[in-house]
Amino acid sequence: MAKSLLPTYTIQISDRAKYLRLRISSEYGLEVIVPKDYDQARIEPLLLAKQAWITKNLGKAQARTEFHKSQPLLPSQINLQAIAQTWEVVYTEPKIAPKFGTYSENPNLKLVLNTNSPDLCHQVLRHWLLNMGDRYLAKELKKISLEIGLPFSKVTIRQQKTLWGSCSQAKNISLNYKLLFLPPALARYVLIHELCHTMHMNHSGKFWQLVKKFEPNYQVLDPQLREVWQIIPAWATD
Ligand SMILES: [Zn+2]
Repeated sequence: MAKSLLPTYTIQISDRAKYLRLRISSEYGLEVIVPKDYDQARIEPLLLAKQAWITKNLGKAQARTEFHKSQPLLPSQINLQAIAQTWEVVYTEPKIAPKFGTYSENPNLKLVLNTNSPDLCHQVLRHWLLNMGDRYLAKELKKISLEIGLPFSKVTIRQQKTLWGSCSQAKNISLNYKLLFLPPALARYVLIHELCHTMHMNHSGKFWQLVKKFEPNYQVLDPQLREVWQIIPAWATD
């Protein structure tokens, strides 16, 4: 059998790592995280043993990068499925380039930006999304919280890379603004999931029982959260 070729990878030496760990992302490719004093001769045999997994996940990361590259740099439409709103986006070209990006909203779901410089536009659009999250996701969380009788302390909308939401000991819930792009049932599931963490700060059997009580379909919805990345536009992800 021919010797398999390993993809290029980088090695990160970590003070905190106890074991070798692999990380794959569209930004950095394959990263091998090892503890201090790790015998680096052990890395290649381990990577060879894990090759099928590596190939599969590098493929996924690649598909993600290509999908994002195929999207227009600036969106002309933004579809916020969770709240059933599709916004039209208009970019204006000012005579003097503005220092700050600003936006205004028309009542007929039209968003007008004061600039057409891509970097500034991305900033403004992300700012607007956070604001939409404050207006709609926070409201929805309060509604569901009352509906299922699980109170929380405070809600914060965040721009997060991978987490959809989190809940602290003090029952502060944070929600990712990307939830706005998800189908309503899926966004609702995440909100229910985080509210259930106010009772159980773990993913124990008791936790899932509680989730099931409010969302019987959770076993179908939960894995979908890992497959929906295509819905999130590139400008909202970095
Ligand atoms: Zn959880």
